[in-house]
Amino acid sequence: MKTKIQFWGGLKTIGGNIATIEYGQDRVVFDFGLVYDPATHVLDHHIKIREKTRVVDSIKLGLVPAIPGLYAKEELEKDKVGDIQHIQSAIDEQNTAVFLSHLHLDHIGAMGWIAPTIPVYLSEQSLQLYQTLVEIGEGVDGNREYEPCFYQKPVEIGNITVTPLQVDHDVYGATSYHIKTPDGTFLYSGDIRMHGQHPEWNIKWIEDARKLGVDVLLIEGTTLHPAMEEQKNSEERLSERELPAYVNRMGVKCKGVMVINFYHSNLDRIQNFYEAAKTLGRTLVLEPKTAYIVSQHMTDIEFLMFDNERVEEKKESWRERLERKYEVITTTEINEKPHNYMLQNSYPNILDLLDIELDSAFYIHANGVPLGSFDPAYNNLLRFLERYGVEFRSLHISGHVYPEDLVSVVEQLKPNYMIPWHSYHPELLSVNQHEIKTILPRYGVCYELDNHTFYERK
Ligand SMILES: [Zn+2]
Ligand SMILES: [Zn+2]
Repeated sequence: MKTKIQFWGGLKTIGGNIATIEYGQDRVVFDFGLVYDPATHVLDHHIKIREKTRVVDSIKLGLVPAIPGLYAKEELEKDKVGDIQHIQSAIDEQNTAVFLSHLHLDHIGAMGWIAPTIPVYLSEQSLQLYQTLVEIGEGVDGNREYEPCFYQKPVEIGNITVTPLQVDHDVYGATSYHIKTPDGTFLYSGDIRMHGQHPEWNIKWIEDARKLGVDVLLIEGTTLHPAMEEQKNSEERLSERELPAYVNRMGVKCKGVMVINFYHSNLDRIQNFYEAAKTLGRTLVLEPKTAYIVSQHMTDIEFLMFDNERVEEKKESWRERLERKYEVITTTEINEKPHNYMLQNSYPNILDLLDIELDSAFYIHANGVPLGSFDPAYNNLLRFLERYGVEFRSLHISGHVYPEDLVSVVEQLKPNYMIPWHSYHPELLSVNQHEIKTILPRYGVCYELDNHTFYERK
């Protein structure tokens, strides 16, 4: 018996990376997200997947791959045309488990469509945050349970041992998985960066993975780009830890309200904005959903909760609990002294800014949606701010490891084989150690690992 590896997504896209590793009847699948690219997406974002036929629709649209034994029989039978009935449904004979690296939608977006009989694991931290996200209406589509796994605690899937290892990325709870079969070892990096709040986690990750052994490394290559050398010299590269100081330098020039837009599952980012606000003598004002995340997962953060003074028909229970516990500030109160506040505004709530005094205001875009000019909404945002004369400041701190750090990580891990993916240009990863062989896999091909040797099955 040999270990079989197949790739189902993410070889030349950013996100949506899915692979299966199989040994006999045992199989692990890792990551199960959706590729996020509004410009090339097959469906307009106004069109929602039909709830009743969500699995069949998603397979037909190519949003998820036709992996055998992963979807429930009753779901696949909803196919009225017969295109996808050949896909084998989840069966008891196969021992499958799915492991997800972190809560970004390009890694978990489709997890709700996996057959409920198959266990789906997330790190304990990810699962705790996910449960909060579900409460505030930010869970993924589908209805099933998820299992926690714990850093350093191996999970046995028959003959396959999966060890979750903590890594640093721009979301709480990020995980890399070490996978051991009787033929050898794999390390799936998940998404990582060395310039985050916790580089020490990655240093430990490299050490622990080296001890466990790494025959085959599957590593993210988001930042690989033909112009990466020029970018290195032209871009200002900030680290997460530098954010408070950087925001302070901006803040001393701002005479009005400071508006901030960030991604609220990056708890380090919330903490750093709080530190910056404190130093500037401003009060942090958070939108209710972010305030709820803080209330559940962070201590020692002082903030006021933003109230846009609109009467809502029925407040959800999490919101009511939050309002009993935290102080609220209204738009009217902010407008009395706008320069006293650092106000969070996420893009879906941009119209709330119409009620805010924006004279001399700064808008700090810090990796919130819309993420960049690849999303048509980004230019709409810029036009909106221009209309009100708001000064736009981009504070982009990548969630992904820079190319030179990537090379160093690979060289420290010293795998026998490296497979760059989660990248538009995986072929651009090159390291100085020639004994590390690069594999650029293809879809529809089965690879094998036999006694630590990786090859394409003929
Ligand atoms: Zn990703
Ligand atoms: Zn990510």
